Amino acid sequence: MEESADRQTERKVVAVVGGGLVGALNACYFAKRGFQVEVFENREDIRKAKIVKGRSINLALSHRGRQALKRVGMEEKIVSKGIPMHARMIHSLTGKQSPIPYGKKGQYILSVDRANLNKELLTEAETYPNTNLNFDHKLQDWSAETGLMTFVRSDGSSNQVQADLIVGCDGAFSAIRKQFLRRSRFNYSQTYIPHGYMELTMPPIDGEFAMKPGFLHIWPRNTFMMIALPNLDKTFTCTLFMPFDEFEKITTGDEVIHFFQNYFPDAIPLIGVDALKRDYFRLPAQAMVSVKCSPYHIGDKCVLMGDAAHAIVPFYGQGMNAGFEDCIVFDEIMEQLNEDFSAVLPEYTRVRVPDDHAIADLAMYNYVEMRAHVNSKWFIFRKHVDNV
Ligand code: FAD
Repeated sequence: MEESADRQTERKVVAVVGGGLVGALNACYFAKRGFQVEVFENREDIRKAKIVKGRSINLALSHRGRQALKRVGMEEKIVSKGIPMHARMIHSLTGKQSPIPYGKKGQYILSVDRANLNKELLTEAETYPNTNLNFDHKLQDWSAETGLMTFVRSDGSSNQVQADLIVGCDGAFSAIRKQFLRRSRFNYSQTYIPHGYMELTMPPIDGEFAMKPGFLHIWPRNTFMMIALPNLDKTFTCTLFMPFDEFEKITTGDEVIHFFQNYFPDAIPLIGVDALKRDYFRLPAQAMVSVKCSPYHIGDKCVLMGDAAHAIVPFYGQGMNAGFEDCIVFDEIMEQLNEDFSAVLPEYTRVRVPDDHAIADLAMYNYVEMRAHVNSKWFIFRKHVDNV
């Protein structure tokens, strides 16, 4: 009893800011190590919310991401609800479909539901008695000197919380990262690409998938591209990537159909004329940003992970997977350096920055390649979401 009481008083507090994909997974990693983990998430609990706002509806989970889930015992749970995609299926203008396998026979990536993955990870984090999930907590400000954070709630109230370590997992527009920007010798770059993306749903036909489900479907069209990933409810989520000025040129339902007739004719009967005319205008196209920075830490107080450290464009399908890998890398360094934050944080920056910058470059390179050469060089698509 005495020993456990001592351990209780010694237990350091780790604040994970952001309960998205990387924050929720990271909470499990820190909880497993025995820290007192406090997760602070701006949104309400998505497990109770009627509408879950966020980016893409589904994502490609690859080996990297699976390894990170495995270490906290979550791999099977997530994989069992994923749909294997063994190959890309390239759709030509005439509607011809040609598969290009991912790697060797038997290798595949998985289409997973973003909201379900996030919910499962939050539920797993909550199984640790040393973890608290604090929803409706928006980080407003924090001090790198004291570790004191100020959160505001939707009712206008605010509270202050102190932590031994602050882990910034608050996404591409990280509030934690803002403090880094005020400091000397912090390198930072942010690039918006001219393309935006829009998601459209392809419903089932007679209760079955409208296209073959074991594939990541791709319609490469030089400046434009559409991809489609299968969902468990037998729909496909189609994502149209296109320059913003092209999105804006289309202003009527008939223009949408005309555009699809020119570029994606085989998708029209599958998505449906009425749905296309309606859904194209449901939400504006979303922007895509690439963020690179270094270092990832401040002293022994704060570290950035996931999109907060490295938001990348989605053309390599690796943003979440790389963020999940951040958790493994950090955990391994914690093991090597006896959880001494003053040694672990700089080592994490040293090891991780080059790899994250490399994946950001590869994603951006693939975006440029796809735009310029996509129809003449099919091999480029071997690299698209080539994340086995
Ligand atoms: P987020 O998922 O953005 O989570 C950040 C969390 O922090 C959110 O819950 C947010 O509410 C919270 N937050 C923000 N600010 C505050 C604050 N001030 N206080 C408290 N909480 C805050 N990756 C892949 O690996 N495979 C794919 O196939 C793939 N496809 C993609 C397709 C598209 C169209 C896009 C845009 C991205 C795709 N990605 C993919 C990338 C992936 O979505 C991100 O890399 C991933 O979501 C990063 O997770 P994160 O937890 O770091 O950030």
